Amino acid sequence: MTANSLFSEADLDADAPLVLNGDPRPVRLAVIGKPVSHSLSPRMHQAVLDRLGKDTRYVAISVEPGRVAKCLSRMAKAGFIGCNVTVPHKHEAFDACDEHSDAASTFGVVNTIRFRDDGTIFGDNTDGAGLEAAVGEAFNLRFSSARIAIVGAGGGAGRAAALQAARSRATSLLLINRTTSKLRELTDKITALSPGTTVDTVPLDDCEGLRSAFASCDVLINATSVGLKPDDPPPIPAACLHPKLAVFDMIYNPAETPLMRAAREIGAPAANGLGMLIHQGALAFASWFPGTPHAAPTMRRELMD
Ligand code: NAP
Repeated sequence: MTANSLFSEADLDADAPLVLNGDPRPVRLAVIGKPVSHSLSPRMHQAVLDRLGKDTRYVAISVEPGRVAKCLSRMAKAGFIGCNVTVPHKHEAFDACDEHSDAASTFGVVNTIRFRDDGTIFGDNTDGAGLEAAVGEAFNLRFSSARIAIVGAGGGAGRAAALQAARSRATSLLLINRTTSKLRELTDKITALSPGTTVDTVPLDDCEGLRSAFASCDVLINATSVGLKPDDPPPIPAACLHPKLAVFDMIYNPAETPLMRAAREIGAPAANGLGMLIHQGALAFASWFPGTPHAAPTMRRELMD
């Protein structure tokens, strides 16, 4: 993966557009995070901007925790259209926004920001809808009629996945997390959002319980970070899986995780998280440039090259 041209908040000091050396196009879009140098967002968004002939650069900006509000206000002054927000700034960005979309209000975190002409900052979240689109594309499965298991449901991405499933009125949700205490508030929130969705929890170390609960699930989503390292085991013992349980791993590097390999070995369909990255990005792009062609195919081509 290519390292990005990396900026910092200090580069946004002037009330003038930010530019890359030797590039006449002003920087008007960015992803902010820490670390952020290896984000794929600049590559995939720039590919779409170039294809549409937009006079705009998209870069990565490294921002220190505690500085997000200041950074956003500097971006607005420097003429930015919007930005994406990645770890660890999604909560801080939520607090810095003047108004939120329904999805951002439900999740309590923001991954997409739009600077409005009236000077206000609008916070959205496209992670949940991006996940739903990617799972639908991979397995031809709608959240609205699905029985969904999520391992890592207590983490940021897992919580957003569970709340998206509730927003879409999933048939049932099975929540799994190493630290089970993190699931209490989430379970209550899901029930309030979607009283018709059945919610259960199973401890991560209860293999028998998992095996029996997975018998009535259509898809297992891995939202843990287990699988990022080459020698990681699957986050769920392979013996708990079954051939009709599709596996969606939010991790996309490596392209095939230990959990995906375990699923494929028993004939179950499996997909990695690249589709989620692409779809959340395409939805963000559509919010900055309404009415432009769907950005996902160009983003996918760029990342597959
Ligand atoms: P996070 O908030 O730190 O949550 C991490 C989750 O992983 C928690 O549920 C945690 O359980 C669990 N976990 C960590 N180590 C574990 C272990 N050894 N055994 C069992 N569970 C363990 O991280 P996040 O931001 O949600 O990200 C989670 C994953 O999703 C990452 O791999 C990230 O790359 C991926 N992601 C992908 C996309 C995409 O676009 N494809 C978007 C967002 C995130 P505890 O609660 O017990 O600590």
